[in-house]
Formats: sequence, C-alpha cells, structure tokens
Amino acid sequence: MSQFDIVIVGGGMVGATLACMLAGETDLSIAVIDNAAPLKKPSINSFDIRVSAITRASENIFKNIGVWEKIRTLRISPYRDMHVWDAKGNGVLHFDSADLAEPTLGHIIENRVMQYALQQRLKSFENVTVIAPASCKKMIENDGQVVLLLENDKVITASLLVGADGSRSWVRQQANIMVRGWDYDQAALVTYVKTEKPHQETAWQRFMPNGPLAFLPLTEGYSSIVWSTIPEHADELKTMDETEFKKALCVASDNILGEILSCAERGVFPLRFFAVENYIKPNLALVGDAAHTIHPLAGQGVNLGLADAAALAQTLVDASNEAKAINSKSVLRRYERWRKADNLAMMVAMDGLKNMFGSELGLIRELRNSGMNIVNNLPIVKNTLIKQAMGLTGDLSRFASFNSL
Ligand SMILES: Cc1cc2nc3c(=O)[nH]c(=O)nc-3n(C[C@H](O)[C@H](O)[C@H](O)COP(=O)(O)OP(=O)(O)OC[C@H]3O[C@@H](n4cnc5c(N)ncnc54)[C@H](O)[C@@H]3O)c2cc1C
Repeated sequence: MSQFDIVIVGGGMVGATLACMLAGETDLSIAVIDNAAPLKKPSINSFDIRVSAITRASENIFKNIGVWEKIRTLRISPYRDMHVWDAKGNGVLHFDSADLAEPTLGHIIENRVMQYALQQRLKSFENVTVIAPASCKKMIENDGQVVLLLENDKVITASLLVGADGSRSWVRQQANIMVRGWDYDQAALVTYVKTEKPHQETAWQRFMPNGPLAFLPLTEGYSSIVWSTIPEHADELKTMDETEFKKALCVASDNILGEILSCAERGVFPLRFFAVENYIKPNLALVGDAAHTIHPLAGQGVNLGLADAAALAQTLVDASNEAKAINSKSVLRRYERWRKADNLAMMVAMDGLKNMFGSELGLIRELRNSGMNIVNNLPIVKNTLIKQAMGLTGDLSRFASFNSL
C-alpha cells in the first residue's frame, strides 16, 4: 500500500500542471496516475493534429511552473491577429495585438508538446510519483481517506483525490457527481495543412451555419484546422479522398489562404457541452474537462482547466501554509466558489455564440452581422472582449499572473 497526501487521476495538460504547481510550493507527497504511457519526445517532422490556442494567462502559468522554456524550444506558434467573418453576410471582427500594445494574443501549441514538457518537468520533483500507464479499478472512501485499487492490484491511499481525467472522467462517475449538458449536433474535424498564401500569424475563423472553420497558424506556413460541422458531414470529410478534401476546405474557407497544398491525417471529435453540479465532494475535487466541457469555437477549454488547476493549487498551498487540512470542506469549498461561476459564465457565452452563428433566421443574421461590424468599430468594447479571451480579466490565481511567484 502506498500513502500520499494528494492523488491526481489524469496526468493530461491540466492534471500535470496542477501537480507541478503543488510540488513546487509545498512538501505534500503527490501521485499522478494516468492510463496512458508517458510520451516520447515529439517529432519535429510532423505536427500533432490536436493543438490548443493557449491564452496569455495560461502562458503565465507555464512560465511560473518552469515549463514554458521547454515548450518554446520544442515548438510554439504565436498568433498576433484574429480575423473572424460570417459566411452569411458582411460581418467581420478583427483583433490585433498591437491595439493592446501586447506582443501576441496567444500561442497555438500542439497538445503533445505541452504534455511532454510537463511530463519532463514532473520528473524533477522529489515529492511527485508518476504511476503510468496504470488504470484504476475501484475507489472507496474510508475514514477521511480515499483508497484507490489499481488494475495491477496495488492499493493507493490519499487525503485528497483530484479527478483530472478528462470529459469521460472515471473519478466523476465513481463519485456519482451529476453532469448537466448535452451532445452538440456537431463534431470537429481536425488536421493540419500547408497553404498557398502565408497565414500572417493570424487565427482565421469563418462562421458557417453548420459550424465554424478555423485555420490556426503553425510554423513553416502550416495551419491547424478545426472544422466544426454536423456529425455526418464531419465523417464525410474524414473519409473523402485527399484531393476532394483539399477542394472542400478551400471552398469552405472562402479561399482565404489560397490553395491547400498538402494535408495530414484527419481525426473527428464529437462535441459536447456539460458542467458538473458539484466540483467537490468530501476528500475529492474535479478540475478541467472532468468538470466542464465546451465547444472549441473560442479555444477556451484547456485554458479554463488550467485556471481551475491554478485556483485549486493556490487554495491548497495557502491551506497547507496555514496548517489547515487540505481536504477540509471549507478549503475545498473555496476552490469551488472561485471557479464555478467563472467557468459557467464563459460556457454560457460560448454556447450563445455557437447558437447565434448557427441561426439562419433572417433577423438574427442581420443583427449578428451588424453587431459584429459595430463591435469591430468600438475599440473599448473590442479590447475588453479580447482581454477576456486572453484570460487577463477576472479573479486570477497568482499562478496565472506574470512573474508573481
Ligand atoms: C477539436 C478540439 C479543439 C480544441 N481546441 C482547444 C483550444 O484551441 N484551446 C483550448 O483551450 N481548448 C481546446 N480544446 C479543449 C481541450 O482539448 C480540453 O479542454 C483539454 O484537453 C482538457 O484537458 P484535461 O487535462 O482536463 O483533459 P484531457 O486532455 O482529456 O486529459 C485527461 C488525461 O487523463 C487520462 N485519463 C483518462 N481517463 C483516465 C483514467 N480512468 N485513469 C487514469 N487516467 C485517465 C488521459 O490519458 C489524459 O492524460 C479543444 C477540444 C477539441 C475537441
């Protein structure tokens, strides 16, 4: 039997970040269990088809835990502009980092690059034990402790269990925490392509009635594609031959970056919207996609998860410094109060955007297009919106503030 102060189930981007924050600031013993094997160093000859738009707040988190340099040297792509336009009208929104006197709006980073850098950083902490690949079989609560039985029959106990195991969270199911939400009538087709025209370090997004199509800038003239559409269409796009797919992508993007010169393998991900009713239970907390999952249209999902991790870490570090029990109800409630309302506000806003752009009603279409153009010409409103999207507003954890530690 192994005993830890905190066990994190799920060592993805959110769970591994949480472990780094806790390990760097406390002596708590931490275990990270993941059912996937650790990653090999990402190849520079290809890109991951899964990428994330990482906000400035998340960049600060990575800087503060000492992984940003590693991520940067592996591969990142800044985006300095964002160009959004409506396929059914003349509505346009353009955000420019120069208007905010900021060097970038954020970075597009391959998920495997972030995961690999975090896994390397975890190795440098003496108080972190990574158990992977390993699957959990059973979870029991016993006398203020959580007991986990692994598939290999090892037993692990902890004062606090954190579920960071993604949208189909095993921990959430074991704890009987209810979710509210629905499957979207959309799936995301993802791949990466080389385009005829340069992307100009701009994130391009065209809203169509079936869903948005995004071209996110990568290095060497490549762009990552996230094309949200009805599930049948996503499947069709995945299976059509490459020439046909390139043509379809060129038409759907309004030819904005010219011909599609090359295209990688394609993947499809179903899209869901849900949030848990409770982020915490006795001796247990949920973070990231285990607690909430949103539409990728504004690239906020993992950024919200990293903000959860930063808030939970700060709450636990403060409790530990004040000699309070890290699994006490009052400590965990502080984390829940901090994140639940903020996450819900962002989720409702994203869901509203998805519905507004999906509507083909004439009146809504007209309002949407004129609204976009009005906002585009109001710098104060536009700058407020973009600062929110960069994660620089609201109640930030000190882990998300620049050079705060
Ligand atoms: C097409 C698409 C595009 C997206 N683009 C963006 C974007 O641009 N920006 C953004 O912020 N977000 C984006 N997202 C959302 C983002 O991918 C998720 O929010 C993010 O992956 C959540 O991170 P996580 O660590 O909480 O969960 P995950 O990434 O799902 O990681 C979960 C971890 O837990 C492990 N695990 C799972 N089950 C178990 C178990 N039973 N036992 C042990 N380990 C387990 C997994 O192996 C994994 O390592 C996008 C999502 C999609 C679908």
